[in-house]
Amino acid sequence: MSLYLGCIADDFTGAADLAGLLARSGAQVNLRIGVPEGPPADTAAFEVIALKCRTAAVEDAVAECRVALRWLQDGGAERFFWKYCSTFDSTAQGNIGPVAEALMDDLGCDQTIYCPAFPENGRAIFMGNLFVGEQPLAESPMKDHPLTPMRDSNLMRLLVPQVTRPVGLANRLSVEKGVDALQARLAALKADTVAHVVVDAVSDNDLQIIAEACRDMPLMTGGSALAMPLPALYIRDGALPAEAIRTVRPAFPENGPGPIVLSGSCSAMTRAQVAAYLPDALGFRLDPVELSESGEESALNWLKAQPLEAPKILYATADPAAVKAAQDALGTARAGQLVEDALAALAVAARDLGYRRIVVAGGESSGAVTKALGVSQMQIGAEIAPGVPWSFARSGGHTIALALKSGNFGSETFFADAFAKLEPS
Ligand code: ADP
Repeated sequence: MSLYLGCIADDFTGAADLAGLLARSGAQVNLRIGVPEGPPADTAAFEVIALKCRTAAVEDAVAECRVALRWLQDGGAERFFWKYCSTFDSTAQGNIGPVAEALMDDLGCDQTIYCPAFPENGRAIFMGNLFVGEQPLAESPMKDHPLTPMRDSNLMRLLVPQVTRPVGLANRLSVEKGVDALQARLAALKADTVAHVVVDAVSDNDLQIIAEACRDMPLMTGGSALAMPLPALYIRDGALPAEAIRTVRPAFPENGPGPIVLSGSCSAMTRAQVAAYLPDALGFRLDPVELSESGEESALNWLKAQPLEAPKILYATADPAAVKAAQDALGTARAGQLVEDALAALAVAARDLGYRRIVVAGGESSGAVTKALGVSQMQIGAEIAPGVPWSFARSGGHTIALALKSGNFGSETFFADAFAKLEPS
């Protein structure tokens, strides 16, 4: 199948989320972990490249995204999507604007849109301000994120220091009037040399209008929900053959020991999910300060000592005060790295012990785990919660089921729901 839409995601869970929503239409979607080595082969109509550049230095993120763009272009892609988090997760030092601008340069296009809205998950944009549920972003728990504390809710103000060209807004009033009105608004902004346009969306219907109005832009940027309508639109246009829609059901992984959760996210939702799962599972808490003093051995030994069948959860998930204490003691980057290294080592140990069903909570955490497992490509399976599919990957000669959950996603019972969904076919 020739590649049509090339997507670049700034973290692993975001990529899995995007791949899952594109796959909801039945479209064939490949998720690649990192830019594949060698020229494109066995491409699907929709290719998603997962990078781990959300908090990388700007030059590194830009360079990596350009390489990904080139690979997708070599594979024949004509349209591109730059996917980032529905909570924007990008401070004044962030990469979202610089990467978009670099991709626009490489593609020779002079306008793109920014729309991280994900109404199904309570992320909405109104008058350029991002809301998490009923709270403005900067009043939501995202204000305390360990790596990207979001202290402004206004996407234009967040973008301005990140880019060199003018930033503008297509607000809900033009979106609500429909495709033609939105296209007219974008054209008017373009005539005023506005290159970076934040677009309001509070509902799936808004996203449908935006996707329809912008589907022929060389580059769109935003959250996964904006991309969801694209497969059906491309087929309607005749740009993609109807055969591009074909559900591929990946082989169920080998049965093995009980399910295992590795959680490195400290988001409010993950904290609730960990608390909800602990009564049903054997739990081990990872403490960054302890890890810095005595390494990963005690966690690894704990895992080896437990009965194989019992559900397990190993978590660094902690409340903002505990996170701050660890960061004050160790530095933010080192505290995060210690946790990520421990989760990565635990994932490899779990695989080698025979575990085949693994849920990872946290975007950075998922990146660290998939890297350690040597996973380079995943087939997208059933959706567990909006934006979080199961996926199937080869690691160490085995097929394992992996669910990579970004911090804020899923309901409180997510972990139990995930494993319940993984029924043998
Ligand atoms: P999310 O998807 O919620 O943003 P991430 O895994 O992307 O989750 O980011 C959480 C970051 O916080 C990771 O770098 C992780 O290692 C770090 N972290 C996790 N637990 C702690 C803790 N107890 N103290 C300090 N940092 C932590």
